[in-house]
Amino acid sequence: MARVHLRGIEKLGYDRDTGAIVTSIGFMKTVHDHKGEIVRYGKLLHQTGLVAATDGNLSVRLEDGTFLCTPTLMSKGMMTTDDLVIVDSRGQKIAGVRNVSSEIAMHLFIYRNRPDVHAVVHAHPPTATGFAAAGMPLDSALCSEIVITLGTVPLAHYETPGTPELAEALAPLVGDHDAILMANHGVVTYGEDLLTAYMNMETVEHYAKIALVTHMLGKQKPLSDTHVSKLREIRLKYLAQNHVGAGRSSD
Ligand SMILES: [Zn+2]
Repeated sequence: MARVHLRGIEKLGYDRDTGAIVTSIGFMKTVHDHKGEIVRYGKLLHQTGLVAATDGNLSVRLEDGTFLCTPTLMSKGMMTTDDLVIVDSRGQKIAGVRNVSSEIAMHLFIYRNRPDVHAVVHAHPPTATGFAAAGMPLDSALCSEIVITLGTVPLAHYETPGTPELAEALAPLVGDHDAILMANHGVVTYGEDLLTAYMNMETVEHYAKIALVTHMLGKQKPLSDTHVSKLREIRLKYLAQNHVGAGRSSD
């Protein structure tokens, strides 16, 4: 069985109460392991209402420079490992029975521009997509932990799904953000592994719900610049501890 993924440390998560990075000794993941993870997180995307019908797509960068992706025209809640597709860096199919996601160009664009990224998730979470459809980025410092984990969530201008122009719309934002709203479309998130990319998607939708409540209440009281500065210091440590985002800005 091919060895495709080597990590010295496997990050398990960020403890929101203590600020500690929870880690364990790493292990090697096979293509089979990655396929199982994509099926698992596809189900979670569907079960948590972040996608409907055949929406959304997930991918993982493999150790040999190819990419494991979800198929087009299939519910991400109903996939088996046999439905997944492997493509090369140009999006050409190498293995698999089904056709690859129509959004593969967007995934490959992110991988090209972020060598630290090993997994990408695209979904249409209803609240965050509502903000995207209203032309509203999630860039107000309303919640301390969001400032630490995601910084801000910017809004990319609209381009037609599945076209190279959609990837180009993300270009100014990909380097400095791990989650982006896409106008009148949805959300894309990414990270060092699929767990991180998936959790970033959950976090964006949760944050959008909180922001929506503040709009319903008719009042927002963002954190002060001083408090945001302190949180950004913690964010830089968080990024450094995770060995991601080298050279990136703090938000
Ligand atoms: Zn989409």
